Amino acid sequence: MAEEGYAAPDTVEAAVSLLGEAGGDARAMAGGTDIMVQLHADLIDPDLIVDLKNIPELCTIAEVTGGFRVGAAVTGMELMDHAAFAATWPGVVDGVALIGSVQVKGRASIGGNLCNASPAADSVPPLIAAEAVATIAGPNGSREAPVADIITGPGQTSLARGEIITSFLFPSRPPHSGDAYLRLTPRTEMDIAIVGAGVNLTLDDGGVCVAARVVLGAVAPTPILVAEAADALIGTRVDDAALAGLAKAASAACNPIDDKRGTKLYRIKTAAVMARRAAEKALERAREN
Ligand SMILES: Cc1cc2nc3c(=O)[nH]c(=O)nc-3n(C[C@H](O)[C@H](O)[C@H](O)COP(=O)(O)OP(=O)(O)OC[C@H]3O[C@@H](n4cnc5c(N)ncnc54)[C@H](O)[C@@H]3O)c2cc1C
Repeated sequence: MAEEGYAAPDTVEAAVSLLGEAGGDARAMAGGTDIMVQLHADLIDPDLIVDLKNIPELCTIAEVTGGFRVGAAVTGMELMDHAAFAATWPGVVDGVALIGSVQVKGRASIGGNLCNASPAADSVPPLIAAEAVATIAGPNGSREAPVADIITGPGQTSLARGEIITSFLFPSRPPHSGDAYLRLTPRTEMDIAIVGAGVNLTLDDGGVCVAARVVLGAVAPTPILVAEAADALIGTRVDDAALAGLAKAASAACNPIDDKRGTKLYRIKTAAVMARRAAEKALERAREN
């Protein structure tokens, strides 16, 4: 890569025009924990890297009308250390906390985790479970899209050339809500998920589940929102029968690969276990609120 192939603008407009007008391959960079590894392994050879970390609005967390707006380049450690966010969205923090080491999380962002579009990305299932919405800036202006619509395949996103995610909006939370994310890896740390499960649910005052979202990672080409698993919880007190229904639906939704980390059958079976455990943890948290 030529030395002149790096820019660090301090406005969204400048970043978008640099990315949109560059000839050849131009890439946004937040923490660089994926892109620099890919660069050094010769997996990519961009003509221009546009560093997003100097753009203030991409690096801030704000409380907005009951919810949170989180800049796309906010680091994992900043998110984990934000007491109000961590108390409101512990499941999102579960996912972020699993990304690499403290050093990696000191750079890595949820925008980068999402746009790298790995099927096993740890912050993505809880973001989808949270119904987070991405704000996207591009050559044709600004638009919003549910996080669930961003990843279209391994390493592929729905972002057009020149578009960047500027922030994520996390909605306000009704009382008795809880979320959780769990993953299974062959090693306890610094490994990629065989299965990830994110669950977000809300109970009414009597303890009946009135809303739920269940998302699996690493068991299909993209993270998957499993409506049948959520339906198994809604209208119940999240008892054993409901959890068994969720587990069955989670396994049925899987379309995994076989690789050195786990066979297809292992992933299908453990998806049921992880989804159930994540639901139990989300339930425990919902009952505390
Ligand atoms: C040692 C190590 C361990 C790791 N462990 C894990 C793990 O356990 N779980 C896990 O999920 N990941 C893991 N990762 C991968 C990586 O750290 C995460 O995916 C991280 O969240 C990427 O964020 P980033 O800001 O560094 O992204 P970058 O590397 O800056 O960018 C990643 C991709 O997203 C694009 N991008 C970045 N920001 C934006 C934006 N705002 N708008 C549009 N496109 C954007 C870039 O162009 C690039 O294609 C690990 C990485 C390392 C090096």
